[in-house]
Amino acid sequence: MGNFILKGNIIFSDADRTLNVYENSYVVCENGISRGVFRIFDDIPSTYRDFELIDKKESLIIPGLVDLHVHAPQYSFRGFNMDEELLDWLNNNTFPEEAKYSNIEYAEKAYSIFADDIKNSFTTRAVIFGTIHKDATLLLMDKMEKSGLISYVGKVNMTRNSPDCLSESIKGSISATEEWLKETEGRFDRTMPILTPRFIPSCDDEMMEWLGQTRKRLGLRVQSHLSENPSEIQWVQELVPASKGYGDAYNINGMLGSKENPAIMAHCVYSDKAERDLLKKCGTFVAHSPESNLNLSSGIAPISLMLKEGINVGLATDIAAGSSISMMKQITLAIQSSKMYWRYIDNNVKPLSFADAFYIATLGGGKFFGKVGSFEDGYEFDALVLDDSAIRTADKVSVVSRIERAAYNEREIKITDKYVKGMAI
Ligand SMILES: [Zn+2]
Repeated sequence: MGNFILKGNIIFSDADRTLNVYENSYVVCENGISRGVFRIFDDIPSTYRDFELIDKKESLIIPGLVDLHVHAPQYSFRGFNMDEELLDWLNNNTFPEEAKYSNIEYAEKAYSIFADDIKNSFTTRAVIFGTIHKDATLLLMDKMEKSGLISYVGKVNMTRNSPDCLSESIKGSISATEEWLKETEGRFDRTMPILTPRFIPSCDDEMMEWLGQTRKRLGLRVQSHLSENPSEIQWVQELVPASKGYGDAYNINGMLGSKENPAIMAHCVYSDKAERDLLKKCGTFVAHSPESNLNLSSGIAPISLMLKEGINVGLATDIAAGSSISMMKQITLAIQSSKMYWRYIDNNVKPLSFADAFYIATLGGGKFFGKVGSFEDGYEFDALVLDDSAIRTADKVSVVSRIERAAYNEREIKITDKYVKGMAI
């Protein structure tokens, strides 16, 4: 890890979603922790002043981006089979592909590609779905550990409404999950297990009840999907008739998590006020997946409303309903889709600004990992050093415009250095 000072054009969010811009400034890293940002070298506390100074000159330096929801096994079919809505898309594309991970040789090939590509992306932390397969999920965790990123990875539970090739008995799912949890113990520094019921339609009441009890007993976290698509929501109501809604169907078993051990729910496109209140009360993180929601015609989540209401929101690629591993692309899609929400659905809900979207991509999702996603004193030091010199203009462009431009032209940006908790990867 080490101690060092990075010099360059530093940009980061704070809790009120303001974009802080420090030109030609210094950010200090001490043993994986940021010690703050300083405009003048002499303002750096004397204890840090003799740290190695790494001058990144004209580069942009930002906190690493946090992908709160990504399906590693689906990376192999990113960018195609996008002409269906959620339930058909799952049956026709996702399930046949995920079934392949019973073959460990296939998993080895596919997860090597995923781990390589996410390592080289803008993402420094991720919360990842595997498949139902214990061994393939452990293999994925080994690869994520080796990548240097910090991640949560889940073995998926699927006990009903699933094809035979991808279906577990309740007993089988419980014992595989127990074995998987046991095998993760003491094996990783940067990779944590997370309970992962695919979604309510795939998990019997008894399975959810066991997961809820296990969550509490072991203090684990949960990831799943919530209120993504109208047909899915109706189906959940039929499957759990006693619930007051989709969110409540999770909450019956404590699966929306708690403030100490929060859960992540992807999408929440159709979460009404009662469901949003529940998410807020439980401290649940909404994983906003704008590209996925567009590709599967799911809809547009009212993200700026959620932020205003004080709900935890992070950003996500949702590979492979999202086609791109680039979190920068998701920033711009979040802004663009919020503009359509404002234009077509509710003109009282103002669109996300660039600062809002940058916040959810960094600090908003980073909070799931603790003090992550900012350069303020005490935050874990995750950083990207970006070279945008390939984008040519006649005039000099301000730093704040350069970072916005970098998001919209992300393919022209080179990541020259990447740090996760102080470690160069
Ligand atoms: Zn998903």
